[in-house]
Amino acid sequence: MSGILIVAEHTRGVLADLSRELIGAALAVKERLGGPLRVLVVGESPADFVEALNRQGVDEILLAQTDNPHFDAAVYEEAVCAAATRCEPTLILVGHSASGTSFASPLAVRLGSGFAADVFGLEVTEAGLRATRSGFGNKVNVDLDFPGMPVVVLTIRGATFKAPEEAGSAVVTPLAVELGEVVGRYLHHGFEEAPSSGVDIGKAEFIMSIGRGIQDEKNVPRFAALAEKIGATLGCSRPVADSGWLPKPHQVGLTGKVAGNCKLYIALGISGAVQHLHGMKHVETIIAVNTDTNAPIYNVATYGCTMDVFEFADALERVS
Ligand SMILES: Cc1cc2nc3c(=O)[nH]c(=O)nc-3n(C[C@H](O)[C@H](O)[C@H](O)COP(=O)(O)OP(=O)(O)OC[C@H]3O[C@@H](n4cnc5c(N)ncnc54)[C@H](O)[C@@H]3O)c2cc1C
Repeated sequence: MSGILIVAEHTRGVLADLSRELIGAALAVKERLGGPLRVLVVGESPADFVEALNRQGVDEILLAQTDNPHFDAAVYEEAVCAAATRCEPTLILVGHSASGTSFASPLAVRLGSGFAADVFGLEVTEAGLRATRSGFGNKVNVDLDFPGMPVVVLTIRGATFKAPEEAGSAVVTPLAVELGEVVGRYLHHGFEEAPSSGVDIGKAEFIMSIGRGIQDEKNVPRFAALAEKIGATLGCSRPVADSGWLPKPHQVGLTGKVAGNCKLYIALGISGAVQHLHGMKHVETIIAVNTDTNAPIYNVATYGCTMDVFEFADALERVS
């Protein structure tokens, strides 16, 4: 057994960013774990995604053509099992998404494999593969080894690994999958669009986030205007979203979005709870503004500014 198998994800003809991030995750361990690196695409027109998935480091793209126009967990489980039987990988990577989590754990049971969900760190140690995920409400990082496991299935957190950009030269191979018994087990009822907010925290390079320190909903427009003026995407902490001051897509953190591409993060009146830090503590440059010198946000801040957020806004409005 050797190699890594990635399961690509797509919805309504659009490849999920996570699919290529999985390639980035695999490349982080491919050299030490051993190749080849294969990507499996399941669907009505799997060939449509070959070009986007053919990245440097990918050795083979397996196309499992099915009659299913929509995602079907049972079909995916069957297709990945077929691919695993054919390729005998030591590691299978699936996105930690609504789709990925619906078939990854049954798949692990069927393969009798090791399993971990929501993984954001991967390495190969003397003991073999090591996956890192969080525990206790994101308060601690947990390193997991899989001694004696010939194969391991992991679901990988989005916006964590960098997607490789350079095109590759993978071989494309059709994969026949016997779906007889599983077809029709799930019924697709339809899609429900999430309300659009025009905000993509995961892609933004410059974010200015507001927290409970802005005191009142009536102050939101002022900070929204300031964010626009300085060219920042407006983010927020959970209480701001929970109170309905800003729509949910603005929320940064564990139950919000990870600021995966952010280079500069300004945190205004945010205490720095672990759940918020989860979404932004990796950012290269963090500027925190908080009246409390002991606020935990200062533990991760590159620059701290112990002052009132409104005075800070006054000053920024004057110069920008
Ligand atoms: C399972 C779970 C998931 C969660 N997920 C998330 C998540 O995804 N994202 C998230 O953000 N939170 C999340 N939370 C909530 C989190 O624990 C905190 O409660 C939340 O982040 C606090 O938000 P805050 O910093 O805006 O508010 P507070 O903690 O109340 O902090 C407000 C800060 O503003 C400062 N301040 C007050 N007035 C001023 C002023 N005038 N000028 C300057 N500073 C001022 C205060 O000193 C304080 O530090 C989650 C919690 C749980 C249990």
